Amino acid sequence: MKRNQLFRLVLFSAFLSHQAAICQSGPGGTIVEGRAVWTPPGSVAFNDSSTKVFVEHCKRANINVIVLLVEYTDKQVWYHSKKFPESIAPGFKDFDPLAAVIREAHKQGIRVHAWLCDFTQSADGPIMQKHPEWAMRNPEGKITSDAEFLGGRAPYDQNWMCPARRPGYTDQWLIPMIEEIVSDYDVDGIHHDYVRYPGDVAPDSYCFCDYCLDEMLKYAHHFYEAYPDSVFPSIPVLPKPIANWSTDVTVRPKDWDQWDRKKKAEFFLTGSFLKGGPSDLDYFFYTFRQDAINRFAREVWERASAIKPNIEFSAAVFKNPIMSGRFIGQRWTDFSPWIDVMMPMVYRSHFPAVDYDTFLKMLEEYTRYEYRWAKDRSHLSVGLDVHYIYNEERLFLSDALHAADSLRDLHGMGRDRYAQRIQSRYSLVKDHLRQVAPEVEKKLTADLLALPSLTSEQLVLLQDAIASLNANPPEDYYPKEKLRRAIEAVRKGGGNGIVIFDAGGLTSRKLWPVLEELFKQPSVEPYTVSSVTEMSIVQVRAQREELASAHRKFWYLGGVAVFLLLALVFAVSRKRRTT
Ligand SMILES: [Zn+2]
Repeated sequence: MKRNQLFRLVLFSAFLSHQAAICQSGPGGTIVEGRAVWTPPGSVAFNDSSTKVFVEHCKRANINVIVLLVEYTDKQVWYHSKKFPESIAPGFKDFDPLAAVIREAHKQGIRVHAWLCDFTQSADGPIMQKHPEWAMRNPEGKITSDAEFLGGRAPYDQNWMCPARRPGYTDQWLIPMIEEIVSDYDVDGIHHDYVRYPGDVAPDSYCFCDYCLDEMLKYAHHFYEAYPDSVFPSIPVLPKPIANWSTDVTVRPKDWDQWDRKKKAEFFLTGSFLKGGPSDLDYFFYTFRQDAINRFAREVWERASAIKPNIEFSAAVFKNPIMSGRFIGQRWTDFSPWIDVMMPMVYRSHFPAVDYDTFLKMLEEYTRYEYRWAKDRSHLSVGLDVHYIYNEERLFLSDALHAADSLRDLHGMGRDRYAQRIQSRYSLVKDHLRQVAPEVEKKLTADLLALPSLTSEQLVLLQDAIASLNANPPEDYYPKEKLRRAIEAVRKGGGNGIVIFDAGGLTSRKLWPVLEELFKQPSVEPYTVSSVTEMSIVQVRAQREELASAHRKFWYLGGVAVFLLLALVFAVSRKRRTT
């Protein structure tokens, strides 16, 4: 290695450790780590006393941010809306969970972000009743609840609303709701969820509403508005046809207005930008969707910041921004300027079906990738889910709870197979259950072994036993070790922010002590002590100058050292000669 390279390496390492030192310490020497919980109010904040208990849990666990659900995927809101009173959830007309949580949390120095499921509504909600034209449409013109199904053809009850349409759902309903929350409540932040297109049922069919069909052609300037009926093909100057893309080719068919929706959608999904070129018009369809989401995030930032300049923004996003850009229009690396902290949902359910140890290795690796994607763009808190982390424990209980109902109608091989499935689920929790509740384990093991031959009465008794295990699990039935190791995997992967879904799950699974232990030392949120890491050109110049100045110092000190050394050698040799 050349000396110059070595010098650069040493200097760069010094720079990195300087940066690391900045990241590790906050005001008063506190550590810098994001700690948040997501929670719907129903399970933890349904009256004053439950709210107090919940916030005390958060305080003991040194949680910095409570992300409280205020607008759900169906139609309900959990705050006392004056603009949308018909949407207030039943049972919450006399109790305002947002006001109560803010009041209690602020007493404890905890921030509150109001969490909205941005682009979904139920078919029977007031918005769909009044404005069905605001919903996304597929190539057949159908809305999601009419066109889509879940696994096993289960009906899909959500309606996805078009983010692009103006005027429409975004600017007439959603942003006014956010403005109302920011105006009427002392909320610290707005949290986006479902800030995307549908991905679970149809990542390639929305939105082809009338507005989007017209806008998509304008979006990439696919025609001259001054000459809408003229198609300007590519001029074949360069030998490769596709190389002639830049001569302002237009693609809007002459008779576009006569085409039906299905044909127009087909055009975008399978057409070619250049005659004889690859099928690539879908590129514009997918980037149009991404830009609709980016625009929404920016507009929310502008409108909410105009009301409360120090309002914060966070977002629950899918874990891979490149994939989600393609499949759900959520390329969050693009809208990060409008978000203080991204909260990618790095849930176990979004990984291959592997054992827990393998999942932890994958989680650690994924955390590194999250930070790689977010680098120079956004702060991050890695989202963990206490339901899927406990898949083994949860799935055994849910299958066993249905045992009596399912086995009653099954006979012979069918009955044996179902019994085997429950026994196989049980085999994953049995050893741990023996450690935490030996008596329960002994009884369950005997019952489950005899499962295929249990009578209806015995099955009901077994079901009661499972129900009681489910309602009041023995201490550590949900091993604390699993959550502890997940948080440690995030930290090992370089993560300095963790957000957990959800508070109710932490309570019912008796997991708060894990947070009290791992978050023992209070922390500050990274985004509150340093700006988004993207460097402005001014900062880049300053850093270059710092490097150049260190470079100069090195040569100056090196020169002085060499001079002194030579002087010493000269003096010694002279002394030798004189003696
Ligand atoms: Zn649309």
